[in-house]
Amino acid sequence: MLFSSWGFFAHMRINRLAVFTLPGDLIGFYKSNINYITEHAVDPDKRRYADSLEAPRHYLDADHYGKEPFKVIPRNWKEAAAKLSEDTLYAYGIVPWQIQRTYTKLVYAFKNRDSILILKYSDNLGHYIADAHVPLHTSENYNGQMTNQVGIHGLWESRLPELFADDYDYFVGKAKYINDPLNKAWDIVEHTNTMLDSTLTIEKNLSKSFPADRKYTFNERNNRVIKEYSIAYAKAYHDALNGMVERQMRSSILDVGSFWYSAWVDAGQPDMKNLIKETITLEEKKKTEKEEQLYLKGKALGRPEN
Ligand SMILES: [Zn+2]
Repeated sequence: MLFSSWGFFAHMRINRLAVFTLPGDLIGFYKSNINYITEHAVDPDKRRYADSLEAPRHYLDADHYGKEPFKVIPRNWKEAAAKLSEDTLYAYGIVPWQIQRTYTKLVYAFKNRDSILILKYSDNLGHYIADAHVPLHTSENYNGQMTNQVGIHGLWESRLPELFADDYDYFVGKAKYINDPLNKAWDIVEHTNTMLDSTLTIEKNLSKSFPADRKYTFNERNNRVIKEYSIAYAKAYHDALNGMVERQMRSSILDVGSFWYSAWVDAGQPDMKNLIKETITLEEKKKTEKEEQLYLKGKALGRPEN
């Protein structure tokens, strides 16, 4: 079974479409690398198979910190670490800080006009921003395991986009400059967390009213028969969510584009036409291949999600 966040499908689409929010000075570079941007949108999830430090970068278990977590957790890393301990922060997820850290790396990559690193950190940043838009990435009950709703994670972020995202409206407008990336990252997570309750409650109510024998189907994927939520069930959930998945995908696309654009501005708007050409080192290549191998074996380190 695949372990992922937003599903590979949604991550790829979000990073790909974010390219089209960019202004004239930037869009040419991203467009000429759009296949790279698309394919590597899921690298951070693949990394989870090789690196146990990777998992907490994708979520924040807000509810671990009580009923008003956003009043408890300082937004600044040093303050948060002093108050709650670094171990605690890593144990319950660090996605807002990971967005800020990756953003800083992207600014440096732009400053150095290093096309390889610009692409790498753009992809990583896009991934973490998209994850921060998934309500179940803000909870200890990330797969409904505490409320007898196991499987809801993959339902919301993989099954629903795969079935319905072709009908979404992706016109999200132009990337906007973000003044304060860390605060923006926190605002995203806080807003996403307001949707957690309905994400869980709506599915809970649906599962009570929906005919039990029609809830799941058995489908063949990669020569294996797997149990999946039926299309009818997925559609009923999607309808009841009333556009939530589409809104979160749209918001992800605009925010990803805006973070990329802002990193370029903060780097002093380097000319993107004559970038220093760097080739991927052999070491880098070997590392990626190893990740791919581990990923194909299908064992993620850290938290499983499905
Ligand atoms: Zn992820």
